[in-house]
Amino acid sequence: MDRYAVIGHPIGHSKSPLIHALFAAATGQALEYTAIEAPLDGFAATVNTFRAAGGRGVNVTVPFKLEACAYATEVSERARIAGAANALAFDGTHCRADNFDGVGLVRDIVTNLRHPIAGKRVLMLGAGGAARGALQPLLAAGPTELFIANRSAAKAAELANAFHALGLGAGVLAGGGWDDLAARGAYDIVINATSASLTAEPLPLPPGVFGHDTLAYDMVYGKGLTPFLRQARDAGAGRLADGLGMLVEQAAETFAWWRGVRPTTLPVIERLRVPLA
Ligand code: NDP
Repeated sequence: MDRYAVIGHPIGHSKSPLIHALFAAATGQALEYTAIEAPLDGFAATVNTFRAAGGRGVNVTVPFKLEACAYATEVSERARIAGAANALAFDGTHCRADNFDGVGLVRDIVTNLRHPIAGKRVLMLGAGGAARGALQPLLAAGPTELFIANRSAAKAAELANAFHALGLGAGVLAGGGWDDLAARGAYDIVINATSASLTAEPLPLPPGVFGHDTLAYDMVYGKGLTPFLRQARDAGAGRLADGLGMLVEQAAETFAWWRGVRPTTLPVIERLRVPLA
């Protein structure tokens, strides 16, 4: 039986083994998928051991996504642009790396939530790894504006400039701090890619960033109504969503990349969904 795993630190909370087991059952694929906690200084050694035991591929999560890129012998363009990989596939001594987080986010917003990105104004909160990984797929979806706001304003501006240097996002992508938001009006989509929801901290957002038709999307999942989603609801945002769909969609992209079969995602999302309120 082909073996796969998710590698992170910590890893106990991971829903990936259940998601891939549900995909395997639904598509009739015989595979085993486990969760492996690697020591903080032992990512490469842990992957090597898994490969030596016959492992065919791994998902990679916090804090190893950068190392996964460096480990691979072939890195996809989007993983290179993201500066991080969340999936590896092994073939003898060859190791391919890709990053499906951003495509998972876009697919969840556009296909599952039926909220168009093309022609819309998008606000990204946060300038860490998750934000960076989402930028290229979001830009490819055709927004008229993509503004990155971050607690450290300079980091958001640097991220936008790094994309401009790659020839991406000219005239669409810009970055700044929370103070820049008051004058920018309401956005069609506001995505929280900060880790503030993990510690239940509210963000200093002007209520005017949310309009009645705004989709407020928190990348965090399984935490119910986070402070960010509560802020959005109280400011009148029309639609609230957490990051479960993004997680399941990136898993489906990975599964298709490994197995050549794309599983249906909505039954899995419905099975794992925790009500927001
Ligand atoms: P990083 O540590 O790389 O980045 C954290 C970001 O959050 C930075 O921009 C940081 O700002 C900001 N931040 C942290 N605390 C606060 C705070 N109290 N107030 C304001 N801003 C804050 O994390 P990741 O980018 O890897 O992850 C971000 C979130 O996305 C996590 O919650 C993670 O669970 C989620 N995620 C969800 C996925 C999914 O499939 N649904 C996939 C990947 C991530 P600063 O630069 O100023 O420090």
